[in-house]
Amino acid sequence: MEEKREKLEEIARQIAECKRCKLYKQAVRAVPGQGNPEARVVLVGEGPGYWEDQKGIPFCGPSGHLLDKLFSLIGLKRDQVWIGNMVKHRPPNNRDPLAEEIEACQPFLDAQIKIINPEIIVTLGRFAMNRFLPGEYISKIHGQARFVEFAGQKRIVIPIYHPAAALRNGQMMAAIQEDFKKIGQFLAEGWKEGEEKNEQKEEKKQLSLIE
Ligand code: URA
Repeated sequence: MEEKREKLEEIARQIAECKRCKLYKQAVRAVPGQGNPEARVVLVGEGPGYWEDQKGIPFCGPSGHLLDKLFSLIGLKRDQVWIGNMVKHRPPNNRDPLAEEIEACQPFLDAQIKIINPEIIVTLGRFAMNRFLPGEYISKIHGQARFVEFAGQKRIVIPIYHPAAALRNGQMMAAIQEDFKKIGQFLAEGWKEGEEKNEQKEEKKQLSLIE
């Protein structure tokens, strides 16, 4: 635990000094990521917003409050997970991060995931999904778990909508809640049983369509 924490702190120091792209120029603080170094679940967002930039803490504004509610839906606490972002400095006016900014920041997230070594990576929104499941569409695959080889290990990646999008759209809010319950299922039962249950559910749904 201590060793992992120290390694993560060293990366946070590097992020605080990072000038690999221009985002640091307008940002108040770097937001390296936060949470439990032994987490089984890592959540990856897009980039800091206003509140995150002010405080240096990921998901501490309205999107973060929704995340906390989603955690409580499945009996998880924030201090059991680790939360980070694709880019570690706030894009001005919350614009989308540019491809070159994501590329410049990528080694930090890769290193953080390698240290934490989680079983499950939950991607929040399309930018984080693209890192692990390139070429996919979030509207098509949200809530579906995939095995991905990442940082030398097979991991489960579950893409879900970004909480900020869910706050703007009722349908996405319903979807993000359902998808979160699946995360709880994987945590409780492991990959195999959770996936089998999903398959059974899908089969039942299909049967009910032809009955
Ligand atoms: N949105 C993100 O993608 N990340 C944060 O940390 C906050 C809001």
